[in-house]
Amino acid sequence: MISEEGALVLFSGGQDSTTCLAWALSRYARVETIGFDYGQRHAIELAVRPAVLQKMRAMNADWDRRLGEDHMIDLSLISKISDTALTGNVEIAMQENGLPNTFVPGRNLLFMTVAATVAYRRGLTVLVGGMCETDFSGYPDCRDDTMKALQVALNLGMATRLKVETPLMWIDKAATWTMAQDLGGQTLLDVIRKETHTCYLGERGALHDWGYGCGTCPACALRARGYENFIAAKAT
Ligand code: ZN
Repeated sequence: MISEEGALVLFSGGQDSTTCLAWALSRYARVETIGFDYGQRHAIELAVRPAVLQKMRAMNADWDRRLGEDHMIDLSLISKISDTALTGNVEIAMQENGLPNTFVPGRNLLFMTVAATVAYRRGLTVLVGGMCETDFSGYPDCRDDTMKALQVALNLGMATRLKVETPLMWIDKAATWTMAQDLGGQTLLDVIRKETHTCYLGERGALHDWGYGCGTCPACALRARGYENFIAAKAT
């Protein structure tokens, strides 16, 4: 059953947001995407976005029809107002407050707020994001309560009835692979493996079973372990 509502997917070109895009394309009649350029050190994620979008169109005629405009937003101000390992040339490490220094304070709050503004202009009523509370690095702006509070704040502040949907919130990376398989079969798994990018270091040399990446940074380790668990679960 396809909803007539329009959705705006926060789409970075990584595994999670590509899975969220497939999720939205199988639910909503009209889907647009939004990406943010904030001087991230893994800018390669942004570079792969057009190829991923093109493959998503090519694999399913319904998805091709539903997929609309892609909005690329310059948020370079983030690198001017914060100092983190995601935008600076700093080694990735844990900080005293228990958060990794890849944490960009308030990033997802800003992303969602900008997305809500674009959704308002485009007449879209659902915001879809890949935030996950289960196995991510403990970023407080990925938590379910944060997203629910933000939905309330956005709707109060803009007099709207936007819904914030986070299909990955309570699942781990293995289940994210399973979700992709359920939504788009082996074709989507291959698009995620070969076209999307997650590595913090922007490494895109060798193709592993789970995709491209350095294999050792936190994002690669999480993606690789999730893929192993997904394959192991399929075998049983
Ligand atoms: Zn990596």
